[in-house]
Amino acid sequence: MAKKVLKFGGTSVGTIERILHVAKIIKKEHDSGTQVIAIVSAMSGKTNELLKQSKSISANFNKRELDVLLSSGEQVTSALLAGALIEFGVNSKSWLNWQIPILTEGEHSNSRIININIKEINKFLSEKGVVIIPGFQGISKTGDVTTIGRGGSDATAVAVAKIFDTDTCEIYTDVDGVFSTDPKKIPVAKKIDKISYEEMLELSSLGAKVMQSSAVQTAMMYNIPLEVKSTFTDREGTKIFDQENLDYTKSVTGVAYSKDDAKITLMGVQDKPGVAANIFEPLSKNQINVDMVIQNISSDQKITDITFTIKRDDLIKTIEILKNNKDIKYESMSNNNKVSKISIVGAGMVSTPGITYKMFRSLAEEKINILAISTSEIKLSVIIHEDDTLKAIKKLHTAFDLD
Ligand code: ADP
Ligand code: ASP
Ligand code: MG
Repeated sequence: MAKKVLKFGGTSVGTIERILHVAKIIKKEHDSGTQVIAIVSAMSGKTNELLKQSKSISANFNKRELDVLLSSGEQVTSALLAGALIEFGVNSKSWLNWQIPILTEGEHSNSRIININIKEINKFLSEKGVVIIPGFQGISKTGDVTTIGRGGSDATAVAVAKIFDTDTCEIYTDVDGVFSTDPKKIPVAKKIDKISYEEMLELSSLGAKVMQSSAVQTAMMYNIPLEVKSTFTDREGTKIFDQENLDYTKSVTGVAYSKDDAKITLMGVQDKPGVAANIFEPLSKNQINVDMVIQNISSDQKITDITFTIKRDDLIKTIEILKNNKDIKYESMSNNNKVSKISIVGAGMVSTPGITYKMFRSLAEEKINILAISTSEIKLSVIIHEDDTLKAIKKLHTAFDLD
């Protein structure tokens, strides 16, 4: 008998009508003899609303209580969906993280699932029950409720697929699958039928939120095939799986963007060994991730400028560290958080020369200034002014034959 994980995102369970629609999708699977474990997100907008409420009490709202608060959205949709299935005559039951339990480790808001108890749930499945599990939440060894990072219901789905050894893990969402770029921003975006874990991981870490990146990482590690498809249409979705099965005819598979970055420039920094290390050591000690770094060539071999990018949320903390650390010496500092990161991703990039040139030429034709660059084997990212985001995505999408 087939066993499946079906995960429904926030928009898919965003209203009572939609929850009833999701219950029908599940009932159909169940009636065909499949054992179903459904993972649900909170109704769309709910988690943000709860976050806002916590901030209206304190900017430093207690982290333990924040996880109790944020996990409540998924509790609501789990109960509503199980209730809807029961109403349709299906034996169904929801379990909260601590009832299963879904054990996590790591800090609040950013925990990782390390184990899930399967006994009671497997028993219920074997009795023809449909299991509903809230995404995004877990419980720590000390018994505290935890959450596993924004968009984390995807990670719950992948972890459940692995631990329950299901045949498939289907991610139902509000678009038909993974597209060459965000279809809500660029209507000519094309649906991708198949994509490798590596490419999907790059796309999602670079801003394509259709799949959460840590979920893709786990799927890749344990070779769990994923399928992203629409809750609202019957169209074929996107299959994400091991690269060996794919044929690469295109150099670029997709264009991603994010507005999560900020750029800092330190001017008048001494050009000698150890200076860059002095700057980046305290940042690393404070868990601040530096993404791109550019050091200009100094004309006099004495003084130079260093530009680097970090997560926008870390900007204030980074500026404070740079200002207060006596080992970091510079003449002046500037920062810019009105930037966006545009990336092209493709496994075929490895074997195609001229991709970098083509990207830079295309942006130049649109008079878009590149502020920082970073590359890896299968991706090329640039930082540009935020206002140029849409223009850049459109241009690159066309230039790399993705329209
Ligand atoms: P869910 O609530 O189902 O988890 P998300 O909002 O997290 O859904 O992710 C789906 C959204 O991801 C889409 O509505 C789309 O706007 C956005 N998106 C960004 N990049 C892409 C892409 N390359 N392909 C498909 N969707 C994308
Ligand atoms: N509700 C959570 C969020 O908005 C988790 C999820 O939807 O995947 O981040
Ligand atoms: Mg999501």
